[in-house]
Amino acid sequence: MIYLEHLLEATGGSLRYPGKQTRFAAFSHDSRQLIPGELFVAVRGERSDGHNYILDATRRGAAGLLIEAAAFNALSSEVQSELEQASLATILVADTRLALQDYARAILQRWHPTVIAVTGSVGKTSTKEAIATVLASNFATFRSWQNYNDLLGLPLSLGKLEERHEYAVLELGCDHPGEIAALCRLVQPHIGVLTNVSPTLLQYFGSLENFAAELGTLFTSLADGSYAVFNQYDDLTRPLIDSTRRITFLPFAPSQAYNVKVSWEGVSCEIPPEAAGASKPLTLNSRLLGAHHVSTMLAAYTVARRCGLQPEEIQAALTQVTPLPGRLNPLPGVYGSQILDDTHNAQPASALAGLSALKALPAGLRIAILGDMHGLGSYEENAHRQLGQAAVRYVDYLITRGERAAISAEAARQAGLAPRHVIVTSSHEDAARAARSILETHQASANVSNVVWLKGSEEMRMERVAELLLAQPADAPEQLVRQTPGWKQIVVTRPERPTWLEIDLSAIASNTRKVKDVVGPKVRVLASLKADAYGHGALKVARTVLQNGASMLGVATVSEASPLREAGISAPILVFGYVPSWQMREALRLDLAVTLYASSSAQALSRAALALHKTARVHVKVDSGMGRLGIRSEQLDEIVGFVREIKELPGLELEGLYTHFAVADMLDLTLTRRQLSRFQQVLSALEEQGLRPPIVHACNSAATLSLPEAHFDMVRPGIAIYGLDPSPEVRLPEGFRAALSFKTQVSQVKWVPAGEGISYGYTYITERPTLVAILPVGYADGFRRAPTNWGSVLIHGQEAPILGRVCMDQCIVDVTHIPQTRMGDEVVLIGRQGEARLSAEQVAERLGTSNCEVVAEILARVPRVD
Ligand SMILES: *Cc1c(COP(=O)(O)O)cnc(C)c1O
Repeated sequence: MIYLEHLLEATGGSLRYPGKQTRFAAFSHDSRQLIPGELFVAVRGERSDGHNYILDATRRGAAGLLIEAAAFNALSSEVQSELEQASLATILVADTRLALQDYARAILQRWHPTVIAVTGSVGKTSTKEAIATVLASNFATFRSWQNYNDLLGLPLSLGKLEERHEYAVLELGCDHPGEIAALCRLVQPHIGVLTNVSPTLLQYFGSLENFAAELGTLFTSLADGSYAVFNQYDDLTRPLIDSTRRITFLPFAPSQAYNVKVSWEGVSCEIPPEAAGASKPLTLNSRLLGAHHVSTMLAAYTVARRCGLQPEEIQAALTQVTPLPGRLNPLPGVYGSQILDDTHNAQPASALAGLSALKALPAGLRIAILGDMHGLGSYEENAHRQLGQAAVRYVDYLITRGERAAISAEAARQAGLAPRHVIVTSSHEDAARAARSILETHQASANVSNVVWLKGSEEMRMERVAELLLAQPADAPEQLVRQTPGWKQIVVTRPERPTWLEIDLSAIASNTRKVKDVVGPKVRVLASLKADAYGHGALKVARTVLQNGASMLGVATVSEASPLREAGISAPILVFGYVPSWQMREALRLDLAVTLYASSSAQALSRAALALHKTARVHVKVDSGMGRLGIRSEQLDEIVGFVREIKELPGLELEGLYTHFAVADMLDLTLTRRQLSRFQQVLSALEEQGLRPPIVHACNSAATLSLPEAHFDMVRPGIAIYGLDPSPEVRLPEGFRAALSFKTQVSQVKWVPAGEGISYGYTYITERPTLVAILPVGYADGFRRAPTNWGSVLIHGQEAPILGRVCMDQCIVDVTHIPQTRMGDEVVLIGRQGEARLSAEQVAERLGTSNCEVVAEILARVPRVD
């Protein structure tokens, strides 16, 4: 409960409008989640400014507003008068973040609960909850919400602190140096609890030692006479204990606990009399899963003893401690399985704890689904490798999602997990589908379930995979993490720069399945991935298409195949283009199928194969009327002779014969049919001689859709996989979806007077005072300058025309008609924004080219996120 007078006194704010209410149930900084009666605090964040949502909060029933004076003064008079009429208490301060901190400090002093601060690398939320649950059995106890554990979150949650609270159990987060000390200055803990120290979020600390020192400031920040609770057996914690301080150190000792039992009912252990502070040994149990929660129980036990609870009281209260969502939380899964949802976050220590919990629990099959672990700095690669190696001892199947987790998969294979039991995916759907198919084929027995454990960093949003595996998906909102409207919208993976591509892998997956449906089970699908998968990012696309019906990949050059092989993609890959003789060895080393149309290349490939003791797979290319690579189809004898030569050369295996259509994307198929019949003549000639190779193929996307008689043994779609129309005449059928969006953010907004030149060459002179927005995207990103440019982009769902020349890394657009435009606003260059849409096809029309060229030309320096 927040009292207006306390808030005004603590913050020194001024009451701009008095409201009807002088008491508020809580603070809210997200208007989407505001509950009527709460006080809305407008906070400037990295991604948005709460001041843009003041009216939204008002309309949703906020009873008060805490806003910055400067922002209030900048509001239009209509908005100001709407606020006045809404008659809610409107408090103006200089800085809302600082005001919240002032309030937090003041309210803790006013109600003076005993403050218990919990921090550490892993388990701080569980420990905070366990301590609070135990203390709540005897005392009025406040606990900070979920993981609202920083200088913004803690004060926000303290809006619910009340006079009656005797204890306040607060979690302190730590993601940059100095944060723990600042939090301690704010909350002045009487008891500090350090759960442990292990590598987490190291990128801002440089080393594990620096990070340990940061956590150690919890102890140095404690005032004389306070208590420090720590894990006696944590090697990185011990050096932090300074026994010259006038504080009492209270170690807890997990390794003194014995008879540790882990079951689906929870964890239990016994502790000796001296550890229990009792006359006899004591059994502790809680509903938490996993042996590492012995530490959680002991930390809570130690704190509760210090607060005066009796051993039996603590023992009874601990049984009420249950898992939180996303923290080794058991949930019913599909096909009678048990989901062990650990998706709240991940780093090496908690991942290992999760694995050992998985192993300790009774289970049929054990399946781990692992997403990338972020924030590990230079430990990243090793940490993933070690986790993969460790996983072999704990799981029957390992499914990974993301390119860091793929390192774990590779390590698990090397450490002996059967390759068929290691599945590498890029999308949520594919990870879930892989698990479902295992669960479906290995239905559990009546008395023991198959178990799926899910883990990954927050950014990976692994709860989406969990949702796809729940027996009752409708329960997801209560049972999983990050289910609020705000979270549902956020794309957490941050691109490396404010101009980026978003690749919708589920669109790629579903487009691939649609192609597969079109051609039927007997015809293979080779997905064309040249030019970094038409700009979409070849590796993720490769993993996704291979999980969804494609069985072969096509690239333009040998060099395009090498990153795929390095990342462990073992599917067959065909190089469409010219491979010079000197590159044949590399092609063989990478186990690529090579396109041949000349005897000299065939001989070079044969020599390389002999030298490396390998067999090279070969596809012969026929030019049936494209005028590009291949032997002309009218030269039948030459083709037959060439195929015979390949058959005879040592080290070569004739795998395929193909041609490519030039105009399959025209409505009139006459010329394509002529190409097809020429190709068929070649094929008949070869069949007569018994020389037909096993894989004959001809169709690109357009022909795959419009010319079923040309499917042969395999089709080679590209553009359709990406959800782009083959041509303005031949569009994709219903249900195909574009996978790529191209976005940036406004870097500046300003007025330019009339008569001023804009950009290089002054090709545009303003005709009136013009509100311009500068965008951090230019022709060196593939955002073309000449002969014509993009024309316009989308901001706030409206078209903003480009003014003057596009520069190398920047451009300028007109937003005079979109006055709400602010620095940081999202700009769509290709994709959707609200109801508005700017498709690659529209852009292609403006640039006078094809959609393919538009997307393939977006340069590598533009990061791809999914
Ligand atoms: C690019 C390419 C394809 C795919 O063409 P789309 O029109 O994108 O479907 C197929 N085969 C070859 C040889 C190609 O070069």
